[in-house]
Amino acid sequence: MGHCPVCGKVTLFIAFGGWFREDLKCVRCKSSARERAVIHYISVNWAGLSHMAVYEPSPASRSRAFFERRAANYAWSVYSPELLVDDMGCGGSSQDLECLTFGDESFDLVVSQDVFEHVANPAAAFAEVSRILVPGGSHVFTMPWYPGHPTQRQAELVDGQIAHLAPPEYHGDPFDSNGALVFNRFGSDIADLIGVSSGMTTTITEATETRMGICGDSMFIFHSVKPA
Ligand SMILES: [Zn+2]
Repeated sequence: MGHCPVCGKVTLFIAFGGWFREDLKCVRCKSSARERAVIHYISVNWAGLSHMAVYEPSPASRSRAFFERRAANYAWSVYSPELLVDDMGCGGSSQDLECLTFGDESFDLVVSQDVFEHVANPAAAFAEVSRILVPGGSHVFTMPWYPGHPTQRQAELVDGQIAHLAPPEYHGDPFDSNGALVFNRFGSDIADLIGVSSGMTTTITEATETRMGICGDSMFIFHSVKPA
């Protein structure tokens, strides 16, 4: 038995596979260990979200429901190049992280889970996140991280066409049955990469809280702060 920070209930956590980060689910809300780690981290750092404006690209239904209930303002987006629109209703829009339509200093907190490895030009996206954050604002995020080596570019866009620099790797994408291509395997230089591209300072922690079903390998949480 444990306590789930996503649904707020006393619950059981059951492993549906050996990769706990994704496979260790809350039987009540089906959240993964990664989702619980992010929500717990945010709950600890920001006791009250009720005065905050939050933006989350490509949210899962569970985190979207969590922020919609708690944040003063919550905007979310999907990435659909055929449908880049400012407003799909319900706070949703289709956004290109490298070129967001939000105004400067629009949000207190940006949250993203396993999104940035799929961005063709992450430096541009980190700069955009910084632009839309208020001074002192935060970007809390997860992504696969390989601290044993520098960041390795897996693919790039050349004149709008994808050029593969390594065997293509795809992750499940609820909006694309082909999956989402991994453009970068981020490594030991990630904090420098973010700092150079956006001016933000990044800390990395490894989340563990067994009673909340937060355990497993590669449970890294990245927290970038825009200078005040
Ligand atoms: Zn739950």
